Amino acid sequence: MNSKEFIVKYTISSDYSDKIDKIVKDFSLDKNLCWKWYEQEKDLRTEINRIKSLYSSRKNDKEFGFKTIDKFYFWYSSFNKCYYCETKFEDIKLLFEKTIKTNSGRGSNPEIDRKNPGKSIPYNSDTSVLSCYICNNSKSDLMDGDTFKETIAPGIKKYYDLKLLELK
Ligand SMILES: [Zn+2]
Repeated sequence: MNSKEFIVKYTISSDYSDKIDKIVKDFSLDKNLCWKWYEQEKDLRTEINRIKSLYSSRKNDKEFGFKTIDKFYFWYSSFNKCYYCETKFEDIKLLFEKTIKTNSGRGSNPEIDRKNPGKSIPYNSDTSVLSCYICNNSKSDLMDGDTFKETIAPGIKKYYDLKLLELK
């Protein structure tokens, strides 16, 4: 186990969350090392807390189909770029912090989007993807995900690339 795996177990896993002694025992770890990892991985813990709050704010919605935080977290953290324009989320975060301003305050963080519009479709790992704010907002409920990805998303990627060049 490495420090990141430890943090995920300690903060997310339904079997191990907040159970340091159980983790130490089951994985034959040194408790002091675990606390060292805990200190080291402050950024990861902050990110996990953000995802947990997002989960809590959505989990009671009827159409929200992720049953546990474990499943939601593993789905969420499998995306490192926007599904549509394929711009890396770390670049997008930088842009929305430095140059692109929105009145809503949205933009820095990935958004959950159902690929295909439809009120009866639940949000789950089969129907949904992580999208950047601009793609999510432009796609709206106008078209299906594949059409958007093919036709409009490449232009959005171009826009981000230009903005990134300006930052350098
Ligand atoms: Zn995008």
